Amino acid sequence: MRFSKLFAPTTKDAPKDALLPSHIFLIRGGFISQVGSGIYNFLPLGKIVLDKIKNVVKQELDCIDAQETQLGFITPSELWKESGRYDKFGKELLRFKDRKSNEFVLGPTHEEAMVDLVRSRVKSYKQLPLNLYQINIKFRDEARPRYGLLRGREFLMKDGYSFHEDEEDLKREFSKMQLCYENILKRLGLEYRVVDADSGAIGGSGSKEIMVLADNGEDDIVVCEGCDYAANIEAAKRKKPDFEKSQPKQGSGKIHTPDLKTIEEISSFLEIKPSSMVKAVVKKAIYSDNEEIVLFFIRGCDVLQETKALSACGAIEFADISENELDNLGIDAGFIGPNSQKLKMFVDLELSNEKDFVCGANEKDYHISGFSFVDKNFEYVDLIMVQEGDLCSCCGRELKITKGIEVGHIFMLGDTYSKALNATFLDRNGKAKPYIMGTYGMGISRLVAVMIEQHHDEKGCLWSKESTPFALSIIVSNVKDKEQLSFAQTLYEKLQNAGVEVLLDDRAERFGFKMSDFELLGFPKAVIVGKGLATGEVQIVDRKTLEKTSIEKDKIFDKLMEI
Ligand code: ATP
Ligand code: MG
Repeated sequence: MRFSKLFAPTTKDAPKDALLPSHIFLIRGGFISQVGSGIYNFLPLGKIVLDKIKNVVKQELDCIDAQETQLGFITPSELWKESGRYDKFGKELLRFKDRKSNEFVLGPTHEEAMVDLVRSRVKSYKQLPLNLYQINIKFRDEARPRYGLLRGREFLMKDGYSFHEDEEDLKREFSKMQLCYENILKRLGLEYRVVDADSGAIGGSGSKEIMVLADNGEDDIVVCEGCDYAANIEAAKRKKPDFEKSQPKQGSGKIHTPDLKTIEEISSFLEIKPSSMVKAVVKKAIYSDNEEIVLFFIRGCDVLQETKALSACGAIEFADISENELDNLGIDAGFIGPNSQKLKMFVDLELSNEKDFVCGANEKDYHISGFSFVDKNFEYVDLIMVQEGDLCSCCGRELKITKGIEVGHIFMLGDTYSKALNATFLDRNGKAKPYIMGTYGMGISRLVAVMIEQHHDEKGCLWSKESTPFALSIIVSNVKDKEQLSFAQTLYEKLQNAGVEVLLDDRAERFGFKMSDFELLGFPKAVIVGKGLATGEVQIVDRKTLEKTSIEKDKIFDKLMEI
C-alpha cells in the first residue's frame, strides 16, 4: 500500500473524552472513528488489525476442531423468554418490534440462539461433542460506554458454545478452550493471567476470565505471590484471617451507644477492634419485577463485595437507599443487628460459628455485646472483598491486587439453557437428556484496544508482529528527490513480491511529519530513504527503541528479510 493512497486521517489532537492511551492513539492514528456513544467505525488501518486478530482467533479455534458459524444478529424475543433471560438481563438488552409487531432483541450473546440452532438437529450422543462459534457483532446497551473500543455498545465478539453428553466431557473441552485462549494471547504478544471468575447473569458453575494485565484495566485481579492462584476480585477468596479478639469492658448484653453509628465511633467508644464488631450493609435489591431491602452482615473491618452480594440475593443490581426510606421502614441505620430480622439477610461465611461480637441491637442508640453465631441458622455466604495483604487460601502467602482487562471468559454452563429450552438428545441408554454445555467468549474489538493499552509509549502505538497493520514502512525523506523515490519504490515492490506487508510513505510531506505518523501508527520497523542514499546508505528504525541503524543500500533487502 502507498501512503499517498491510504485513507488514514491522522490527527494531532484527541477528542476530550478520550482518556486512555488506546482510545487516544486509535482515534489520532485514524484506526477508528466514533459514530455515537459506544459505536465505532473501523477505518482501513483499524480494519486490518481487527481482521488480523480475528484470523489468529480463527486459526487457533480451527486447530481444536471448533467450527465457525454465523447466527442472525437479531434474535426473536421468544427465545429469550423461553430461557427466562428476557426479564433478567436488564437494560443492556435492546428490545424492539418490527412492522408486524413481532418482538426482537439485538443479540448481546447467543446462548439461546445457538441452542435453538442445535436442538432439532443434534438428537443422539453419537453427534456429540460439538463446538460451534461465530465472530459477530454484539449489542449491549451498556450503562456507561467508555474508553473507546474497550467498553462499546456495539462490538465484535467471538462467542462459542460447546455441547456434551456429560460433565466430564465438558471439563475436557473447557481445559482445551483455556489452552486455546492462552495460545491466542501468546501469539498476539499479550501478558495475561487466567483468573477465577464470578458466573454473572449467564449462570453456570466453573468460570474463568482471561485478563490482560494493564494499569488502566477496569477489573481488579487478586494474584498470589507464592502460587498460581489468581481470581477476579468479584470471586477472590482468602484464608480466614486470625483476628485478635477484644471485648468491651461493659461486659455482654445491651450497651447504650447514643448517636454512635459508625464502626469507628463505636469501636473507639467501646475500646475494641473493628474486627470484633459485626456491621450491617443495607442494600435495595432490584429484581426484574420487584425490589426489596436486603441486609448483609460482615465483620466491622471488612468491605462488602457487591458482585458476591448480588449473586447471594439473585438481584440484577443494587440501588441507593436514603436514611429517610430506612426510617419509613422502621430501620435505624447504625443500630442494625442480625437478630430477629424480618428482612431478607445474608451473613458472611467467615462469621459462621464465631462468637463474642458487638453488633446493633435493632433499637435506636443501643448495641449488644457477646453476640454469637454458634448454632444460628442464618444463610452464610462469602461476601467479603479480599484486600491486598490478605493470605492465599491455597498456599498461605500474601495476595496482591493488580489491574486487568477482561478479554475472554470461559464458562461451564451445564444444562441451564438446554433444560430451559427443552433441548435434549438421546443418551447411551436411549434416554432423553439435556445437552451439557460450555460457553466461551472473547472480545475481538476490545482486543484491538487492549493491544495498545498494554503496548504503547508517549508517542503512540506499538503493535506486535501478529497484530500490526504493516510490518514495515518505507519513508521517503524527500519525494522530490528522484533517486530516493525510485530506490524506495524498487525496494517496496521487491518486499511486496516477497510477501512482506509494507507501506510506502510516498506522501509529499515534510520528513518530520512522516516520522511522527510512523511513531503514532506504531508499525514495528521503518526504513528511511534519505540524504544518506547519495553515499549508499539507508537507515532502519526500530519503533520500540526509536534507534536508527545505517545499512548499505544494497544489503537492505536481505537485512529486512532476515528480520
Ligand atoms: P465486562 O465484565 O467487561 O462487562 P462481560 O463479563 O459482560 O464483560 P462476557 O459476557 O463474558 O463479558 O463477554 C465476553 C467478552 O466480550 C468479554 O470477555 C469481553 O472481552 C467482551 N466484551 C464484553 N462486553 C464488552 C463491551 N461492552 N465492549 C467490548 N467488548 C466487550
Ligand atoms: Mg458486561
